[in-house]
Amino acid sequence: MSLSELKALACQAIDSRRDGIVGLARAVLANPETGFTEFKTSALVCQMLQELGVPHRKGIALTGIKGYLQGRQGPGPTVAIIGELDSLRVPDHPHANPETGAAHACGHHAQLGMLVGSAVGLLAPGVLDVLSGRVALVAVPAEEFIDVEYRYELHRQGRLGLMSGKQEFIRLGEFDNVDMAMLVHTNSRNGTKLALGGTSTAHLVKYVQFLGRAAHAGGAPWDGINALNAAGIALNAIHAVRETAREKDTIRLHFTITRGGVAVNSVPSDVRLEGRVRGRTLEAVAEANQRVDRCLRAGALAVGGGVRIATIAGYLPQINNSALLEAFRRNSVALVGQESVATRPERLAAGGSTDMGDLSHLMPAIHPYVSGATGRGHGNDYLIEDYDLAVITPAKIMAMTAIDLLSEGAALATEIKNRHKPFMTKEQYLSLQASRTREELYEGR
Ligand SMILES: [Zn+2]
Ligand SMILES: [Zn+2]
Repeated sequence: MSLSELKALACQAIDSRRDGIVGLARAVLANPETGFTEFKTSALVCQMLQELGVPHRKGIALTGIKGYLQGRQGPGPTVAIIGELDSLRVPDHPHANPETGAAHACGHHAQLGMLVGSAVGLLAPGVLDVLSGRVALVAVPAEEFIDVEYRYELHRQGRLGLMSGKQEFIRLGEFDNVDMAMLVHTNSRNGTKLALGGTSTAHLVKYVQFLGRAAHAGGAPWDGINALNAAGIALNAIHAVRETAREKDTIRLHFTITRGGVAVNSVPSDVRLEGRVRGRTLEAVAEANQRVDRCLRAGALAVGGGVRIATIAGYLPQINNSALLEAFRRNSVALVGQESVATRPERLAAGGSTDMGDLSHLMPAIHPYVSGATGRGHGNDYLIEDYDLAVITPAKIMAMTAIDLLSEGAALATEIKNRHKPFMTKEQYLSLQASRTREELYEGR
């Protein structure tokens, strides 16, 4: 059978189970869970893998899953197809969980449809018979770096090392036996059906606690130290240093107040912020972070309070492997036509960040975008409108790409693997991330 016949078989298999594949994505949409709490989501994916007869392990990095499809032509490289399990919190999203505010406003539920969909394609009769090596089906927790207080606590208890899903999978060695990886993300603003290439920003994550002193807010405010005022001054100082950001560095500084005081008649003594310092390069992020830390200390100094600043290793910029991207592009063009596939400049960073960036420093990895969504990403109107485009099409493209990579003795995958020089080893990665994580207590008294 020719390669194109094999790919057609895989696509037919995906079409024949279209409703089940889309059904899984919709079931995940209806059960949104944020990072490292995706227990129901994980169970839904496991159930589907079980039905497909895919051997897998679960509970990796709390909620992650890893399964394998073994080629029957002997050993060869391992190609990972990745989906993300977690949702955001956007309480006024139409599909938000009313209790937690969790909502799939980034389309990760579509990725899980793609993950099982590509498995369905590769399980079509005859396909695995001609592949060497294997495909790893990986569902990772916690791509959105939110709920920092919760994660930092898990970290302090030793239940989490690094605090995002792919980061922790790397630390746990779950990517040690993977040679290359692909993940397709939905998008509402591509302009074409597929958009390939580009990069993402690096970031550091901030978890900040302003420490004041409670006192009667009316009777004796002079006895108190107002932690909310410290936070307000710090946030204004951060606004003031934005003008030092260079355009080329794509600096983004953004914070939320997650605890702002508990009762209006007592001077707030414990105010917490979670934040993000993003930029095009690790150096730009480190420099901006120094300025942010000065601003945080300034808030504490102004009121005579303290501030505990936890700086947490965030993401590295995405580096798309050109040969892997080319294999993906060829299959995209074959499926949807040349005019529906755009390639972005390699250095174009839209501003967002992903831990696929971390993985891309260790192995060939790609992070293309597929349309099919409408609304603002992370907004209350972000919805997958076209499940065939957002789930079925990328499932087919990833299955087709895996066939290209692992057929003919896995020649293409082997070539990509051998030609690739990783940007760092796992050990270098772990020590880099350790050096980016620290906690400081500044006393402004
Ligand atoms: Zn997102
Ligand atoms: Zn996302």
